[in-house]
Amino acid sequence: MLDQSRCDLLTQFTQIAAWGENIQRVSNFEFRFSTFDSSRRRRIVQWVLLALLVSVGCGNIWAAGRATESAVYVVLWFDTEDYILPQSDDAAKRITEILAREGVRATFKVVGEKGRTLERRGRRDVIEALGRYEIGFHANTHSQHPTPAEYESKLDWEQGAAEFTRRERPGFEDLRRIFGKAPTCYGQPGSSWAPQAFPALKSWGVRVYLDDGPHVGLDGKPFWYGGLLNIFNIKAGSDLRPNEDWSNVDQAKANFRASYDELSPSGGVVSIYFHPCEFIHREFWDGVNFAHGANPPRDDWQKPPMKDPAQIERDFNYLENLVHYVKSFPNVRFITASEALGVMPDRAQGRQFSTAELREIAGQATSDVSFQVRGEYALSASEQFALLNEYVVRTVRKQPAQPILLSGTPYGPDLAAPELANDMNVSWSQFSRTVQDVAGFLEKNDQIPSVVWMGSKPVPPESYLVALARTTRALLETHTLPNYVTLPPARLAAARFVADDSPKLWDWVIFPEGFDAPQLMALAKLQAWTLKPALLEGGS
Ligand SMILES: [Zn+2]
Repeated sequence: MLDQSRCDLLTQFTQIAAWGENIQRVSNFEFRFSTFDSSRRRRIVQWVLLALLVSVGCGNIWAAGRATESAVYVVLWFDTEDYILPQSDDAAKRITEILAREGVRATFKVVGEKGRTLERRGRRDVIEALGRYEIGFHANTHSQHPTPAEYESKLDWEQGAAEFTRRERPGFEDLRRIFGKAPTCYGQPGSSWAPQAFPALKSWGVRVYLDDGPHVGLDGKPFWYGGLLNIFNIKAGSDLRPNEDWSNVDQAKANFRASYDELSPSGGVVSIYFHPCEFIHREFWDGVNFAHGANPPRDDWQKPPMKDPAQIERDFNYLENLVHYVKSFPNVRFITASEALGVMPDRAQGRQFSTAELREIAGQATSDVSFQVRGEYALSASEQFALLNEYVVRTVRKQPAQPILLSGTPYGPDLAAPELANDMNVSWSQFSRTVQDVAGFLEKNDQIPSVVWMGSKPVPPESYLVALARTTRALLETHTLPNYVTLPPARLAAARFVADDSPKLWDWVIFPEGFDAPQLMALAKLQAWTLKPALLEGGS
């Protein structure tokens, strides 16, 4: 299959020759072309002809040209999880056949135990069919207790990350072995979300969190959190799900059109998901067995009841009908989880920040600590912290002023510090020693410290960041060292994008009655230090 980036390249190439307003680029091309020898010229002419032929295969090149300006990216994903009802294997395979007919990309997030079950049942055909698509990870055993939020609810940041790896990594490694490639993304079972999953996943090489849930969200659009690209809590596409008897496809299509019209002027992301098992069962496999904390042994697992054949046909038709419709829009691009990283690259990473930029960043920092969106890139609060601390520490060490590289997003602290009640003044001598101490902490832990020590006085990192910003500005404007530094009261305003704990947040039938995780959500709010929007390449 011809890949999209190739089509886009060819489209741009054709535009260069065809668009009158692009005279400069055409003349540059001609200049370079005439400098090549004749055999090279011949090869280039052949290449151009081939390119034109191939571009016809891409569809309408002009439509594609416009599409790159405001693509509506559709992330279509399937949580492939039922390891109890054998017919769900065939349902997954049938979905791959529908996708193949429509020629669209998708991501199958597979449960570790589902992969092992396909292997045990000898379903190489299903494994091969799924393996033609991108594979994600959907927990090791999904609904067997304790599920991730259950065990993480009693653990701190570090223990929680280690425990997530201990329990879940075997499933991830099984999928790598079974499908011959590492899963590219993760999403939690049900609403069993936990912040400690993020550093664990990142350490395994997973870079995308793909799921839905209310725990963290940024205006219904993709975001960076916990060091991963999150396609999570996305508004567009949330109203495309089937109703009870899958009779609402016309409404779903109308809803998609509305999202498309809203997103296409500046581009956007639509997230659409299904479960292969839900096309054929009357009740979820796990609800039958693991509801309200139940944890029966394997021998007692019950198969969920199936739908009648006519309903099953209606379900698959719903998917095919919807996908066919979505595909018909000129600016729609189906992308997988890993392709999302390409269309929403984090342009702050690997960037060299000039002193002029650092001055602007410092100027934007307020006592409501949050991310900053600066044109083509965004900075989380922890990234601002790292950059400004590095600037000040270089000044303290009398190192020459030079651009500062951002590499990585420090995690948020693992404990909350009480806010300062009033301004605190410290001498420059103390502040400059603390700045060096914090630089050492960042380097060793890649994390914002829970407490910043001004000698014997503990200060919350939010207040310290505001002081860093003020100090950076003062140093750049006056070129003299201050006598003292003021640390003001400040708070992590970005934490408002992380949900408050409440029983409603854990509204999944699998949880034990009354399940609640206040400590887990407190940790999650601290990780709002890492939060920032994921900006579309070329988007506004
Ligand atoms: Zn699931």
